[in-house]
Amino acid sequence: MASKRTLHHLTLRGLPEFARFPDDETRDAALARFAGETRPRDLVVGIAVVAVGAIGLLVLVRFALANVPLGALARFRGDLAILLVVAAVLLLIRWMHRRSGAASLRSSLLDCGVPTCRACGHSLAGLRPDADRCPECGRTLDAQERDVIREAARRAAAAQG
Ligand SMILES: [Zn+2]
Repeated sequence: MASKRTLHHLTLRGLPEFARFPDDETRDAALARFAGETRPRDLVVGIAVVAVGAIGLLVLVRFALANVPLGALARFRGDLAILLVVAAVLLLIRWMHRRSGAASLRSSLLDCGVPTCRACGHSLAGLRPDADRCPECGRTLDAQERDVIREAARRAAAAQG
């Protein structure tokens, strides 16, 4: 079955979690779940925080640029400040989006039986069934992570016969 493309297929592409789903259907379901997790209220609060932050940053950048000798570009000082702030805001939004997307995908991976650290996203495949810490970040694994590791180890042992 062809995978149904959404915006999040583009914006979350390249995350290690994105590539770890067993098939397109489970990944599509995980991306749909992430889309459904965004509450309108969170979005409004987020936009307000970003807007206030952007205005504050603009004041700072204009202040910083006021003392930079820009030569022939000096008359574009105001535009340059706005351009820098817009770039910073876009990068920040992308970073927050991918961070929350990665966290959501990790939960979905665990739900479909793929051993993954909920905190750092490290693959926990191949760990001993009694593992209780993530070898990457050292965090103590929770009950679901331990269950998924045990189940994956059991399947691997069964596959080897
Ligand atoms: Zn970890």
